[in-house]
Amino acid sequence: MCRVDLSNSHKLLQVHHKDSLKGNNDINNLQALCMLCHAKRHGHMRVSSKKKNKIEVLRKQQGL
Ligand SMILES: [Zn+2]
Repeated sequence: MCRVDLSNSHKLLQVHHKDSLKGNNDINNLQALCMLCHAKRHGHMRVSSKKKNKIEVLRKQQGL
């Protein structure tokens, strides 16, 4: 969503299931999101402040 490049930080990248069904792994149902965007999609998810900071630093470095 925010287009941050996490190719060197795979742990911060997650796969979102658009229809919320974890069993539906159809390519059209999957979306790669950084942890912060994923947490935004699901109101209940928590991201540790350490990981949050890392994503925010990467976004800044990449001019996002
Ligand atoms: Zn993001």
